[in-house]
Amino acid sequence: MTPDGFPIVGETKEFPNFINAIGTCGQGFMLGPGLGELLARIVSCELTDDDIDVLKHFNLYRDFSRIEQFK
Ligand SMILES: Cc1cc2nc3c(=O)[nH]c(=O)nc-3n(C[C@H](O)[C@H](O)[C@H](O)COP(=O)(O)OP(=O)(O)OC[C@H]3O[C@@H](n4cnc5c(N)ncnc54)[C@H](O)[C@@H]3O)c2cc1C
Repeated sequence: MTPDGFPIVGETKEFPNFINAIGTCGQGFMLGPGLGELLARIVSCELTDDDIDVLKHFNLYRDFSRIEQFK
């Protein structure tokens, strides 16, 4: 679970090549297939502009002070 309800996906500053794909909260099965494709593009360095935009919302270093809308 994450405070804002979004997962944590992407690379870490502290550990090069360590990629998070966690915190999918209550939507992990639903997100799984698309997340798998996104992870494949991360590791193969084939991110699209849309991927880069999406990953900003899933960034480990984002502002977690926003609360999930459904709470
Ligand atoms: C009650 C409930 C209902 C849900 N309903 C839905 C739903 O209807 N639709 C939906 O899309 N999602 C639903 N989810 C969410 C979904 O189940 C999760 O988001 C998804 O299973 C997360 O998958 P994951 O592979 O990221 O993590 P997990 O399934 O948690 O897998 C992580 C694995 O890592 C292992 N592990 C942990 N630490 C270590 C370690 N140090 N070393 C080695 N292994 C370790 C764990 O044992 C586990 O096997 C529900 C969740 C719950 C609890």
